[in-house]
Amino acid sequence: MDIEEKLSNFLHSKYYNELVKAASQGKDFIVIDFADIDMFDPVIADQLLEHPKDIMKHFEEAVKNIDIPSIPEIKIRNIPESNRIRIRNLRSKNIGKLISVEGLVKSASEVKPQLETVYFKCPDCGTIMEIPQESTNFIKYPKICTNPACRRRGGFEIVDKKLFDVRWIRLIEPFEITEGEKPGEITVMLKKSLTTPKYQRMTDPGNKIKVIGILKEIPKRVNGKKSVKMDMIIEAIYVEPSEKDIEEIEITPEDEKKIKELASDPNIYKKLVGSIAPAIYGFDEIKEAIVLQLFGGIPHVLPDGSRIRGNIHILITGDPGVGKSVILNLVSKIVPRGKYVSGKGVSGAGLTATVRKDEELGGWVLEAGALVLANNGMISIDEFDKMNKDDMIAMHEAMSIETISIAKASIVATLPARTAVLAGANPKYGRFDPFRPILEQIQIPDTLMSRFDLKFVLRDRPDRERDEKLASHISLSRLNPEKMEPPIDTNLLRKYISYAKRTIKNIEMTPESANMLKDFYVDMRNKYTGQDQAVPITLRQYEALIRLSEASAKIRLSKK
Ligand code: ADP
Ligand code: MG
Repeated sequence: MDIEEKLSNFLHSKYYNELVKAASQGKDFIVIDFADIDMFDPVIADQLLEHPKDIMKHFEEAVKNIDIPSIPEIKIRNIPESNRIRIRNLRSKNIGKLISVEGLVKSASEVKPQLETVYFKCPDCGTIMEIPQESTNFIKYPKICTNPACRRRGGFEIVDKKLFDVRWIRLIEPFEITEGEKPGEITVMLKKSLTTPKYQRMTDPGNKIKVIGILKEIPKRVNGKKSVKMDMIIEAIYVEPSEKDIEEIEITPEDEKKIKELASDPNIYKKLVGSIAPAIYGFDEIKEAIVLQLFGGIPHVLPDGSRIRGNIHILITGDPGVGKSVILNLVSKIVPRGKYVSGKGVSGAGLTATVRKDEELGGWVLEAGALVLANNGMISIDEFDKMNKDDMIAMHEAMSIETISIAKASIVATLPARTAVLAGANPKYGRFDPFRPILEQIQIPDTLMSRFDLKFVLRDRPDRERDEKLASHISLSRLNPEKMEPPIDTNLLRKYISYAKRTIKNIEMTPESANMLKDFYVDMRNKYTGQDQAVPITLRQYEALIRLSEASAKIRLSKK
């Protein structure tokens, strides 16, 4: 029995019902679990891993032998651990093999037609030659007429062609596994049924996906010519959203015990504050705010379907040299998927998203900015007031409804940006002028300002007592760095945050806390509204209070 027959038998015995269902529902493909093939015939399963191109061809033919009205594509999922490879570890030995990688979509092209097969006619004898096209840049021509009596070389005429749809995406390793290293990157080709609107959404920038496909090499182009250097791409066979659990940090029962102990410690808030940037002296209020931000509130979906964010946004403005950048930087290293960028210097896609022309991927490409790439995490944005206009506009949407919409050239998309923002900014004139209203000295529009849950202003004024303490704190940190050990080390803190987020998904507001928040809000509004120096207090600030309270409950691992 040859492979094709075996595969037909396999499909008949294990996937007949699905094939019939797919055909009757007009589905483009069926998905086969690798484990089923392995059980049916381990030799074929091995060959599928080693020579996927051939076996997939046989599969294509094998489906045609099944008696169903339409022929779906065959997709494979769940390939063994041995062939799941980190993007950065892909090597030439993997070329041609079936592999699976996980990553975050950084950019994606439009969907465009590409040649699948070209039919040539020999002008001498009229023979028609069918030439399947590879996924490179140039049309492949027949070298010699296939008619043995003719053997003409070249000069063939294109008489027909078959097209399919393609989309190219760039996949990068998710931040949580790279920890500060530059993430590995690879280009992935999605074709045919993987370009339908459903799959287009799934593979838009900002999404985390798992790709199963064949690793291929294509020649790198140097000055337009093919060179001996190769680039690797993955021709996708199947794509699925990656399960969330994988990105979450592993927490052992021992960790869990430690976390629960911390959560019930009456001094926990103090301990946490002491664990944020211990080398930076003072700023306990800011550090407390950051602690609450790291744990975050709970997103709420209202009966009308609108969603209130759970992420807490913080703005720190201040005179130069007060330690803003240092804090921002350190905090971004605590959280998994944390990122530090400067509003001024973000290259490429900027903070939010852009659409640009891309030679390599071809045509218009949608590229995710830092905020989208940090989706489900947090981002520190230094020099927040210096970001470009487009980002400034997109930031309004990002910081309230946590999406980024973009419509440029032929691309229209809404990308996810569920990201907590910790922003730093300098005063307009370099440092704060004590005789002018503060708001006037911060170059951030009011509309954006109101989206921050907490705003801090730091002034660098000489103060003998504080200056002395600060200076000795700094010398202590230089002389005895071990005395600066945080009460909770970063590793455990990370696990604590992850555990709290994972286990506390609902928090109920008690009547006492509701009253307290209400009184506080009404008081604050009456105290500050109407004064010309004041920052307006709106319902947004009330929502902020709720978020902060929720974060505080999460720290105690409490549902109240
Ligand atoms: P900013 O971004 O506010 O202009 P930086 O974060 O660049 O300031 O801080 C300038 C330097 O001063 C850094 O080396 C930082 O470590 C130090 N520094 C500032 N404030 C403090 C502080 N409170 N405790 C310890 N070091 C500080
Ligand atoms: Mg700075």
